[in-house]
Amino acid sequence: MLTKLQDRGSRMTSHRLALLRIMAVSEGHPNAAQLYEKLREQFPTISLATIYKTLLVLKEDGQVFEIDMHNDSHYDGNKPYPHPHLICNKCGDIIDGDDVSFLDAIGQEIQEKYNFQIAQSQLLFYGVCQNCQS
Ligand SMILES: [Zn+2]
Ligand SMILES: [Zn+2]
Repeated sequence: MLTKLQDRGSRMTSHRLALLRIMAVSEGHPNAAQLYEKLREQFPTISLATIYKTLLVLKEDGQVFEIDMHNDSHYDGNKPYPHPHLICNKCGDIIDGDDVSFLDAIGQEIQEKYNFQIAQSQLLFYGVCQNCQS
């Protein structure tokens, strides 16, 4: 991640570095506010705007995958490519779906059928997770 960003000539601040580190090891799907809470312990002066800006750079660079949930985006630094997400309506948990090959097939079909260049895609399933069912 780091070399890729430096290649692009992005300015590397300690805040950005810290965010990169968190995203690289994160197994969940944090949103900007959750990342802000985490980083604030270490960097009391960090701003939410810096986090949004950094996430945007990472997203454009293909280093994180954005799950666009209305006004609340969550980010996946572990699987920075399209994959299904299962979202629990009760606890808000975001579960990674398997990487399904039909996603590629759907994309291919859409590109051909509509001559549409896909920049990104989202596959979200809303429902109730296993924990919340019991
Ligand atoms: Zn749940
Ligand atoms: Zn994910």
